[in-house]
Amino acid sequence: MKTLALTAMASLSLLHAQDAGAARRPPNDGKLRIIAFGAHPDDAEFKAGGTAALWAAQGHHVKFVSMTNGDLGHYASAGGPLARRRLAEVQQAARILGIQTEVMDIHDGELMPSLENRKAMVRLIREWQADLVLAHRPNDYNPDHRYVGVLAQDSAFMVTVPFYALHTPPVEPNPVFMYFSDNFKKPAPFQADVAVAIDDVFERKIEAVDALASQVYETVYGVDAKTRQDRLSRIPKDAAGRKAYARDLHGARYAAVANAYRDALVKWYGAERGKRVKYAEAFEICEYGRQPSAEDLRKLFPFMLVAAAAVGPGADPPGSGGARLFNGKNLDGFDTFLKESGLNKDPSGVFRVHDGAVHVSGTEYGYFITKKEYENYHLKAEFKWGDQTYAPRKDMARDSGILFHVAGPDQVWPKSIEFQMIEGRTGEVILVGDGASLTANGETRTRGETKNTRFARHGQGPWQNVAGYRSPENEVEKPHGEWNLLELIADGGKVTFKVNGKVVNEGSGAKPSRGRILFQSEGAELFFRNIELRPLGK
Ligand SMILES: [Zn+2]
Repeated sequence: MKTLALTAMASLSLLHAQDAGAARRPPNDGKLRIIAFGAHPDDAEFKAGGTAALWAAQGHHVKFVSMTNGDLGHYASAGGPLARRRLAEVQQAARILGIQTEVMDIHDGELMPSLENRKAMVRLIREWQADLVLAHRPNDYNPDHRYVGVLAQDSAFMVTVPFYALHTPPVEPNPVFMYFSDNFKKPAPFQADVAVAIDDVFERKIEAVDALASQVYETVYGVDAKTRQDRLSRIPKDAAGRKAYARDLHGARYAAVANAYRDALVKWYGAERGKRVKYAEAFEICEYGRQPSAEDLRKLFPFMLVAAAAVGPGADPPGSGGARLFNGKNLDGFDTFLKESGLNKDPSGVFRVHDGAVHVSGTEYGYFITKKEYENYHLKAEFKWGDQTYAPRKDMARDSGILFHVAGPDQVWPKSIEFQMIEGRTGEVILVGDGASLTANGETRTRGETKNTRFARHGQGPWQNVAGYRSPENEVEKPHGEWNLLELIADGGKVTFKVNGKVVNEGSGAKPSRGRILFQSEGAELFFRNIELRPLGK
C-alpha cells in the first residue's frame, strides 16, 4: 500500500514537472522558437535585442535567459536588492521587445560550467523546443560570459540525447547554435556569419536599453573613484536626457557592428540595402549543433533577406523569368491566419491546394501570407472568382485582396497597403491599419489621419455591392470564371498596380515600404495561381 502510494506520488510529481515545462513552452504554431543565453541581465538585450524585436514583430517566439542574477553589477550596491532590480529591468525590456525572459538565481561572478548548470541549460532549450540558440563565445573577458559559451557548447549535443536529463524530451532536430558578436581576438576573432539590420527597430531597442537603468546610467567599472564620479556626473538625470545618452552610446555600438561586418550585410541584404544599413547585430555559427545552410539561415532570420531569397538557388526554374512564391503543390513558404482559428490552424480547409492553384473557400475571414518580408519587387499573381459567397458578404460583390508591406503581428487585417480585389473595383488602393500611408495625384492619405483611406483605380466607374457586378465603364476584369493577371511593382516607396496588363493605380511615399505579402479570404470563393516574385533590377 505504502509502495503504491509512493509510486502514485512520484508519478504525480513527474506529471507536475512536465506540466510546468509545458506551460513555459511556446505554442507549436509553425513560428520560429529562439532562445538566447546571456550571463547577466542585460547581455542578451544588448547583443540581440534588435533581432529579437524583429522576430517578435513577425510572431516568432523569443526567450532571453540570464544565467546569473547580476547581483554584483553595480559599483555601489550589490546582493538581493540589486538582483531584484535587474530582474524588473529585463522584464520591462522584454515587454518592450515582445519576448519572454527568465533570470536564473545564480550569483553574479560565480557561474561555473558545472553538470548542474549544463542540465539547467539543456532543460531550458528543450522546454523552448528551440530552433535557434544564441550565447556568448567561450573567449571573453568576463568568466560568466565565457562559461555561458562553454555551457552552450556542452548543451549543443546533449539536448538531442534522449536519456540525458530525462524529464524533458530531446529537441528534434538539433537546434542551430550561434554566438553573439564580441571584439576578442584570441584564439580566434568573431566571424559574422549573419549580420542583421536593426534600423527598423532601433528606437525600440533603445527603449529596451533605457529600461536597464542600473547598467546604462549607473555603472562605471575599472577606473578610480574620481574618474568614475566624473563620468557618472556627465550622464543626464532627466528621462529624455538619459534616453538621448543611451541612443548615442548604444547607437555608436550598433553602428560599429554594422561597419565591422558590412560584408555580411551586403551578402544578406544585397549591395544596395546592405551598404545603407546603419545599425546591426551580428552572429557566428557554432561548430556544434546543427550546421545551417544559407537557406536555413534565411529561414531562421526571415527578415534578413528580402529579394535575395527569390534569386537564391532552387527558388526558380531556369528560364521562367521569375521566382515562384507558390510552388503549385502546397503552401510551403506561407503561413495561414484565420479570424476564428488563428495561425496555421485551418480545420475547415479554407485554403486548399489542388490543380496547381490555391482554392480559397471564402467561408471565413483570413489569409495565407508569405513567411518572408519583401521590398523592391515585381509580383505577379493570377486569380479567378469561384461561385460561392458567404456571410457577412453573402450575395455582395465578390471580395478579396492582396495586402503587401504587411507590418506587425497577424490579425484581420494587419497594417499594410491593399491591392483591392472586388468585383467592379479591382485595382483600388486601400490603406490598412493606422499609419499606413500613400501619396497619389499629389495627395497624401494616411489611415488614422485623413478621412479618405482609399485611392480609386484609374477610370473607376459607378459601383454596386452585388455579386457578379461588372463596371459599366472601364471594366478591367475578365468575365466571371476566367483567370485575371494582377501585377504589383513595389520600388522603394513607389507602387504600381496592373490588372490584365493595364496600369490601374500608382502611388509614392508608401508606408510601410516593405513587409510580408498576404492573399485574403473575405467571403467569396476564389482561386490564386502562378504567384511569382522577381526582385527589381535583376
Ligand atoms: Zn555580462
